[in-house]
Amino acid sequence: MEQQLGVKTSQGLTTDEASKRLKKLGANMLEEGKQTPLWLVFLKQFQDFMVLVLLAATLVSGLLGEYVDAIAIMVIVLINGFIGFFQEQKAEKSLSKLKELSAPMANVKRDGRWMKIPSSEVVVGDVIRVSSGDRVSADIRLSKSSSLEMEESALTGESLPIAKHATAIKQEDLEPQDQNNMVFMGTLVTRGSGEGIVVGTGMSTAMGQIASLLVKTEQMATPLERRLAELGKILIIVALLLTAFVVVVGVYQGHPTYQMFLAGVSLAVAAIPEGLPAIVTVALSLGVQRMIRKKAIVRKLSAVETLGCASVICSDKTGTMTENQMTVKEIYVNDQTIHVTGEGYNPKGAFYLDNKQIKNPDINHVLLYGTLCNHASLLKRKGKWMIDGDPTEGALLAAARKAGISEDFTAQFTIVHEIPFDSDRKRMTVVVEDQNKKRFVVTKGAPDMLLPRTTFIADQSEKRPLRAKDQNQINREINQMADKALRTIAICVKEIGNDHPFNEALLEKDLTFVGLTGMIDPPRKEVKDAILECNNAGIKTVMITGDHVKTAQAIARDLHLMPKNGRVMEGHQLSHMTEEELSTIVEDVYVFARVTPEHKLKIVKAFQNKGHIVAMTGDGVNDAPAIKASDIGISMGQSGTDVAKEASSLILLDDNFATIKSAIYEGRNIYENIRKFIRYLLASNVGEILVMLFAMLLALPLPLIPVQILWVNLVTDGLPAMALGLDQAEDNVMKRKPRDPKEGVFARGLGFKIVSRGLLIGLITLIAFMMAYQGNPESLRYAQTIAFTTLVMAQLIHVFDCRSEHSVFARNPFQNLYLVGAVISSVLLLVIVIYLEPLQEVFHTVDLSLRDWIFILALSAIPTVFFGFSKK
Ligand code: ATP
Repeated sequence: MEQQLGVKTSQGLTTDEASKRLKKLGANMLEEGKQTPLWLVFLKQFQDFMVLVLLAATLVSGLLGEYVDAIAIMVIVLINGFIGFFQEQKAEKSLSKLKELSAPMANVKRDGRWMKIPSSEVVVGDVIRVSSGDRVSADIRLSKSSSLEMEESALTGESLPIAKHATAIKQEDLEPQDQNNMVFMGTLVTRGSGEGIVVGTGMSTAMGQIASLLVKTEQMATPLERRLAELGKILIIVALLLTAFVVVVGVYQGHPTYQMFLAGVSLAVAAIPEGLPAIVTVALSLGVQRMIRKKAIVRKLSAVETLGCASVICSDKTGTMTENQMTVKEIYVNDQTIHVTGEGYNPKGAFYLDNKQIKNPDINHVLLYGTLCNHASLLKRKGKWMIDGDPTEGALLAAARKAGISEDFTAQFTIVHEIPFDSDRKRMTVVVEDQNKKRFVVTKGAPDMLLPRTTFIADQSEKRPLRAKDQNQINREINQMADKALRTIAICVKEIGNDHPFNEALLEKDLTFVGLTGMIDPPRKEVKDAILECNNAGIKTVMITGDHVKTAQAIARDLHLMPKNGRVMEGHQLSHMTEEELSTIVEDVYVFARVTPEHKLKIVKAFQNKGHIVAMTGDGVNDAPAIKASDIGISMGQSGTDVAKEASSLILLDDNFATIKSAIYEGRNIYENIRKFIRYLLASNVGEILVMLFAMLLALPLPLIPVQILWVNLVTDGLPAMALGLDQAEDNVMKRKPRDPKEGVFARGLGFKIVSRGLLIGLITLIAFMMAYQGNPESLRYAQTIAFTTLVMAQLIHVFDCRSEHSVFARNPFQNLYLVGAVISSVLLLVIVIYLEPLQEVFHTVDLSLRDWIFILALSAIPTVFFGFSKK
């Protein structure tokens, strides 16, 4: 196999060779369906019914000789189309960037070193390692396996795990499910680990052969997008009815039918917030980019909204609230507690008993066994000691080095069998053979899992029965270590004969207790403040951990996680409760200790039964159901398995609890920004419709002509609305209660704000028009210019009001420079349209004097200033 594929298993491919193969064979990806061509996306911008009616009407007016108007309208519609197109492209691009960021990685050996590379860069001949929780990135022929079990439903439809092994199979033409020495692209490792050589990538994998049958997953609209789409339909009907009413009244008052029709259609196009869904998507995706900068990757856009509603965060302790940097601090052996000095994974430190340095051979025993039952490796990179593998195991390696146990020494032993660690078993077992072919079992794990399987104790290297007195002493020691926030790992051994069966129950029975290690995993510095901030924001933080209850409690104490009356629960208590029973007390519980991933699902459901919106973190295969069932499933970017990531809607790139808080902050802010521009757009539209309606009811001429209406729509709906989507959060964003997920778009006074501001904008525009017109047909063009300018200015001032739920005066208008820029450029465009001669013809405008401007500004500030003081 090695020769066939041109690779040495011990070295893997060279980077050079790998990139040559990548060029030759192409990326390791399944071909996706065809993308919509850009011109079609552009054309789609014009498929809106009212836009089509407008284009048809314009065509008619062009044919009737109104060239200037017709061309102007066409140009405005075209520009509008471009804006929509660019907004959509931007949203699309940031979404595909997201996909790239959350793309799976593969663990391959290149140039003799294990490294993580994007799965798409895996090539035939790569030596690759898979372990529990991975989604396999290519077709692999196994060369090593350890309790490897695969779930191949993606390929075969069969969801029961299948055991895999590295032995060669002679028979040919087997179906994938019968090829037990192969693992296939897209299938999941549910248990154990394996190593092998890649024999197929991309479309030449078993999955590639059926790829064309796979349905492409559609990007689902988020609840808000759906709600807005529904609202959009209602708004279209309302806008159409109102415009129809304006047209009918206008015709009734003696305006020419054709003129009213064109004005009506323009008004409808302006009033229908057709840009809303696109701006919402842009706001969501821009927010998502801000989240990426804060190290949170959103996998499902809907999570952005739900984040703002989160009322409970259930977080893992290890690695999320703590550093996941374990260091052995204490060793209990032979009824003595030995203290270990040194920091992190640096293998420098000494052992002390009663303040005296010692070199006790019995510690060496504990540490030697801890090193044998171990997958981690200790490395020094850029002068810093770190580990590759599980931190608990890394800590044991570092402690062993401090005692002088080197890798050469452990190399004398061979692992002949392994029962891997998982969070349900909370222990790991290996069968080791020494140079004399003598075999023994080494088990390490949570003491409460090992002690029931232990019947002997090692006493000064002798073995004697474990008595109740010893048990009590060990338990006392565990409690003492846990009270100091130390994680406890017990180490047990047993000699076995060479023909002893590799049966889990038999191997892990009648063990001999050798010792205990206590390791510290300090809380992350920023977590304490993050928990406090969440608390102020009405969000409860709950710690969920597989660790010992006292260790968990000690860390919870350090983090100020629990109020005085807060409760702590253990996994075994949870097991005896129904979901309903748990629901009655779950709100009082702040720490769940010694839980298994299965318990997490029960906890999520119990909180949800109480009406909570639950964020749940997880990293392992078994966490996936709870992650999926929660409202916001969160997985870990560094330590998380592919399975957990796929089930989640948010990935924390730095595995850090504080990042969840930042994501919630952003989630709340994005939602508020969406509310801001909905408020702005709709209030503007209400103003536009009302000024026309009032004028028709009062038998006045048209205060705005069609091009002016369309121009207002183009300029104000464009840049200022987008800039609102980029607004900074208000100061109290993390001081309010979470949002009710059932709240409607117009909740919390938004409807009133839209109608009241819209009404006032309409009124002052009408007043401006009437005062300039004064019944004199000669001054109509002047009056229309005044009305047009007043409407635009009123909207551009009102946009600052939309930044606050309280009052325009509550915020510094220069804080959002995008908005200031957008407003300035809109004013410039307005000035051009008013003063540039050729455009005056198109937009029917006339020069305005300074007096006019003072009059306009005074009037157009009224809606914002009035509501700024009334604070409603
Ligand atoms: P979290 O807080 O993220 O839920 P955890 O690390 O507390 O994670 P697990 O990883 O499930 O939870 O560990 C549970 C217990 O299993 C630990 O308290 C420890 O005693 C034991 N344990 C952890 N890692 C190993 C390991 N590599 N080998 C043997 N036992 C382990």
